[in-house]
Amino acid sequence: DHLANQIAAGEVVERPASALKELVENSLDAGSNKIKVVLEAGGKRRIRVEDDGRGMDKDDCLMALERHATSKLTRAEDLFSIRSLGFRGEALPSIASVSRLTLESRRAEDEAGVRVELHGSKMFKVTEVSRPPGTSITVDQLFFNIPARKKFLRKTETELSWMVNLVTQYSMAHIDKHFILEHNGRTLMDLSPVSQLKERVYQHFGKQFIDHLVPFEGERDWLKVSGLTSLPSFLKTSRNYQFLFVNGRLVKDKILGHAISEAYQGFGEGKIYPVIFLFIQVPSAEVDVNVHPAKTEVKFINANFVHDGVRDLIRAPLLQQRA
Ligand code: ADP
Ligand code: MG
Repeated sequence: DHLANQIAAGEVVERPASALKELVENSLDAGSNKIKVVLEAGGKRRIRVEDDGRGMDKDDCLMALERHATSKLTRAEDLFSIRSLGFRGEALPSIASVSRLTLESRRAEDEAGVRVELHGSKMFKVTEVSRPPGTSITVDQLFFNIPARKKFLRKTETELSWMVNLVTQYSMAHIDKHFILEHNGRTLMDLSPVSQLKERVYQHFGKQFIDHLVPFEGERDWLKVSGLTSLPSFLKTSRNYQFLFVNGRLVKDKILGHAISEAYQGFGEGKIYPVIFLFIQVPSAEVDVNVHPAKTEVKFINANFVHDGVRDLIRAPLLQQRA
């Protein structure tokens, strides 16, 4: 089973940022309002995610570390209507198999919390602890037992930049949550909850940025689209400032990328990319999120419909600006 976990880890946990992604998604799934990420050495030495979510009792904690133990699916059919971010039940055991992992948790209704320590899947210690409600997962020395993988980790600044991007992305999708990011004892982000996307963009990128964005919002049948996008005077030469979310899940998607480019047809020359924060809501039957274990790719069942709808709804305020 340890081997199965390590094989799964190969797919799910490529680097510190992918481990962090799983941990943050779990915290969001647990209904947390505050998520604090603490990193050391670009996550290579330590990744810790602390939340104030619903927490787990001792049995839940032990279960969570078992392969395919997800509390989020009850029937096989649920696979087709996935609402929570995680659903495979393999993230925690995978991460545990390639690190020294400490899981601490407490439910609000319990007196005491529990701490479980593992070294590369081997249960090391289970103790009772006194702690506030919520969960804290610490991943130390990722890949300590897989030298070949460890060797491929990049330098601290590179790994860190991926993790900063990740937290930025989640903070955009969840503006009502408090996100904190610390690295080597320094606070890099402390984003108090806000009620409008514009305010969160401001927290990250400042005034120049929001002055050059216009809102868009609209529906087509079951497709709901909203967000903020560049004025034609604020186009970039890379996609670095494109944030795409489908049903709250951060995605990379060629169809959407293409729809965005088409929306700007006639507004600029060459390879130009708007700064965009795009949020799409579709019924769960219209999207397959199960195409890749890392879950950043999606497949739309009616891809053309989504493409054209997204393009037109983004383009509308641009045409209005020009008129
Ligand atoms: P999945 O998210 O696919 O269910 P994971 O391996 O990521 O699988 O997590 C296993 C289980 O552990 C989850 O289903 C959930 O019940 C529990 N869990 C993990 N992280 C947390 C957390 N931060 N707060 C509460 N429960 C958690
Ligand atoms: Mg998960």
